[in-house]
Amino acid sequence: MTDATVDGGHPEAAAPGATAPGATASQVRLPPVVAAEHHAAVAAFRESYADLPAGAPVRLAKRTSNLFRFREPAPRAGSRRAAQGPATPPGLDASAFTSVLHVDPAARAAVVGGMTTYEDLADATLRHGLMPLVVPQLKTITLGGAVTGLGIESTSLRNGLPHESVTAMEILTGDGRVVTATAEGEHADLFHGFPNSYGTLGYALSLTIELEPVAPFVHLRHFRYTSPQDCMAAIAQIAAEGSLHGYRADFVDGTAFGLDEIYLTVGAFSDVAPWRSDYTGQQIYYRSVRGPREDFLTIRDYLWRWDTDWFWCSRPFGVQQPVVRRLWPRRYRRSDVYRSLVAFDRRHHLSDTLDANRGRPPREAVIQDVEIPVDRGAEFLRFFAADVGMSPVWLCPLRLRSDTSWPLYPLRPGEVYVNFGFWGTVPLPPGRRDGYHNRLVETEVAALGGSKGLYSTSFYSEEDFWATYNGPAYARLKSAYDGGGRLSGLYEKCVRGS
Ligand SMILES: Cc1cc2nc3c(=O)[nH]c(=O)nc-3n(C[C@H](O)[C@H](O)[C@H](O)COP(=O)(O)OP(=O)(O)OC[C@H]3O[C@@H](n4cnc5c(N)ncnc54)[C@H](O)[C@@H]3O)c2cc1C
Repeated sequence: MTDATVDGGHPEAAAPGATAPGATASQVRLPPVVAAEHHAAVAAFRESYADLPAGAPVRLAKRTSNLFRFREPAPRAGSRRAAQGPATPPGLDASAFTSVLHVDPAARAAVVGGMTTYEDLADATLRHGLMPLVVPQLKTITLGGAVTGLGIESTSLRNGLPHESVTAMEILTGDGRVVTATAEGEHADLFHGFPNSYGTLGYALSLTIELEPVAPFVHLRHFRYTSPQDCMAAIAQIAAEGSLHGYRADFVDGTAFGLDEIYLTVGAFSDVAPWRSDYTGQQIYYRSVRGPREDFLTIRDYLWRWDTDWFWCSRPFGVQQPVVRRLWPRRYRRSDVYRSLVAFDRRHHLSDTLDANRGRPPREAVIQDVEIPVDRGAEFLRFFAADVGMSPVWLCPLRLRSDTSWPLYPLRPGEVYVNFGFWGTVPLPPGRRDGYHNRLVETEVAALGGSKGLYSTSFYSEEDFWATYNGPAYARLKSAYDGGGRLSGLYEKCVRGS
């Protein structure tokens, strides 16, 4: 941050690096050496940004991504490919912001580089018996990415979305300033408008977040429902009572294999585990929800239960077949490895060419996460089974933690939603073009009073997009923090893919 703090608080309130017992997340201080290094890195990043050629598109050079809009990766500044010409401009080197700067167990808070992966973040906090309030389940999702692009996980019914436990953000704005944004401070508008802005207002260089205590294990119980209505009623009950059939719901998510086979998985922190399952080896987590009904995982294995097989998306690589699985090195059973393979396939159109050569219909990628009010969730599942027909589908209930709304993403405070996640391809009906199923999803989501995340493809008209994602609020923020339009606009980036 620009001043001596990394939190927007008062620098004189506490000695650097030491937080008084009972202190809160907004009072965390960086140890002096860490603070000095970080300030130097911020200054260098700001300079690199200022040095980019005028008019050239700006990109972050990150090692990983979980976006599903594919383009040529940006070369690092100074590399041979960057020197070859401006076709793909060099990305801004964000490597100085990829680590946890400080964990303060007394304040139950951490100061974290904006491009730190949740894998590193969770490891750093678990050492203190703490975790972020929401840990998105793909290891290489970064804190900044989850805040600017939204995130969700099975604590989201209790704790809302990742951005709701951020207390301060240090942001390089599109117009080249470095500001500290907090809920109440001078840049409160940027703080509230940052979620769902996808790096179009600025880049978060460090964030201060709240943490919560953990137990060593999670005790899971899987409940089966034979109709979407019954499942949605159970979610509404958990939201009201914090438990299901007397079992505490510290965590809750679900898996729909079909309309008559839907599981809710309720997890509770536990100090003991009579046994521990391991889904990083031969067993596969998503299959386990079908039974036995009870399970135990260490807290770390629970956080990454979906990553090993990228939910179920490792299936096309054959990795779920026992023989291939045994041969596939354990270190490559990770979502980022599978995503790189998909990215390669997309860039080189390998599957498309294979399908065409075999006379199969072209397929459309339908990779989306949508949030639907719980009382319309059953309708969504029925629509999806009839008109898209992909399975399984991930279910994750959520409710905003705060009673204020976040301007760029239209969720209503107090309302219970269910996030439906589906990631795969389906054949296009004869005469239909790419985007057919995705447009159906967009229309249905709007009809049911829901909203759609923007990390993947979108097909909205500009008018519908701004009506959905609060065009007037975005225009005010863009003018205040990137008046010269140095960064892409939200519509250009998320719909046109520029
Ligand atoms: C198959 C699949 C399943 C998913 N499931 C989930 C899920 O269950 N839960 C969940 O939480 N999310 C999920 N996501 C979405 C994911 O959280 C978002 O795509 C998130 O934005 C990715 O963050 P990243 O750190 O990988 O960022 P990237 O993919 O690198 O970037 C995402 C966007 O954020 C911008 N950005 C990145 N870092 C910063 C920063 N520090 N400051 C400002 N802008 C920045 C980038 O410019 C880019 O526009 C899923 C995605 C996929 C593809």
